[in-house]
Amino acid sequence: MRQETVNHGTSGERFFLGNLQGMNSRYTLRGEKHSDIFTGSGAMTGKKILVIEDNELNLELVRTLLELADFAVLEAVDAEQGIRIARKEQPDIILMDIQLPGLDGFTATTKIKADPLLGHIPVVAVTSFTMASDAKKAMEAGCVGHISKPIDTRSFANEVKSFIGIGK
Ligand code: MN
Repeated sequence: MRQETVNHGTSGERFFLGNLQGMNSRYTLRGEKHSDIFTGSGAMTGKKILVIEDNELNLELVRTLLELADFAVLEAVDAEQGIRIARKEQPDIILMDIQLPGLDGFTATTKIKADPLLGHIPVVAVTSFTMASDAKKAMEAGCVGHISKPIDTRSFANEVKSFIGIGK
């Protein structure tokens, strides 16, 4: 069990909200003092997506692609932080990395699906291309589907949208 201490100010606990108006207006937030972040005009127009991903480069790429597709992007670097943010922000969809520090993505998805506040939120696993068995395990954990890593930057956003019934 990972400790629950929130280390305010460290990179491990930071997350960002993507603003739909563009990359330059992204809000940078620390810790969990984010209860009023969705009062800004831009973020209200899109769907909220929570990305749980511990690799900074992957996170940057995914964030960029999703912001270009008009998602408001919330980020977490481990599953426990992700679950806390999901409870507060009620995202429309969760993108779940499988290999995470602490709780792995399968366990985290099982927890989310069993949580009365979160169970309704679709979870999409992001699984390594080389780990075919992960896709099956993700479905068993309650994911609505999976997207393979390395992600295809051309189709990624539409794949995500298809899981919440928007786009194609
Ligand atoms: Mn990972």
